[in-house]
Amino acid sequence: MRMSGLGQRLPDRAIALTFDDGYASNYQLGFPVLKDFGLSATVFLTSGFLDETESLWFQEMDLAMQAKGEGAKLASTLAELKALPDAEMRQVVAAYGAEVSKPKTRPEVTRPMTWDMAREMQASGLVELGGHTHSHPILARCSLEQQRREIFICHERLSAELGREPKLFAYTNGSSDDFSTETCGLLAEAGFEAAFTMMSGRVKPGLNPYALPRYGSPETLWEAEATASGAFEMLREWRGGGRA
Ligand SMILES: [Zn+2]
Repeated sequence: MRMSGLGQRLPDRAIALTFDDGYASNYQLGFPVLKDFGLSATVFLTSGFLDETESLWFQEMDLAMQAKGEGAKLASTLAELKALPDAEMRQVVAAYGAEVSKPKTRPEVTRPMTWDMAREMQASGLVELGGHTHSHPILARCSLEQQRREIFICHERLSAELGREPKLFAYTNGSSDDFSTETCGLLAEAGFEAAFTMMSGRVKPGLNPYALPRYGSPETLWEAEATASGAFEMLREWRGGGRA
């Protein structure tokens, strides 16, 4: 989504497409489809993942649990880990990973995109690139100093690699207790103008620009249609007696 400036109207029933993390598959699989249909999208990048100095901790856990034959417990384990302070969570992930020999080659779909891929998508005019932290912690599980580093390093790396300052940010995990008022303040200080959560809902006038709602990826065509058409919202309003 290109920010069109305050006061400008979007077309009726406009949809903004977003991708998080910075996987190579966004470029390999998503970008050709965007080009085919002339659709624009925003891709939120975890800067250290693209730099290959940071791995995504949930991916490490996934690979380690699969190697140990415990893949079925992944979802519940990740939910427990997400509740821990970031430093403690990283220790648990590292200790667990040290117990298993992980496969030497990584599945292609788990790879980060290169900065060249990001630049090519940006140059197409169809893709805007935004920030998604540097090492993908849940910001509210970090000290304020660490939150500042995650946000500012991400902003600096994107600016340096892409030749323009990122304006948009997406929170990791993205529920209401995954960021705080202080987080929003740090984002503004770094130069981000808006941030997206993973709290379902439509973007309307008057919302806090640093806590914008977003729908998760639909798993079926039916779910995609119900989200885009407004059927879910209508049901929610009807159930809530008119409250949106
Ligand atoms: Zn993410």
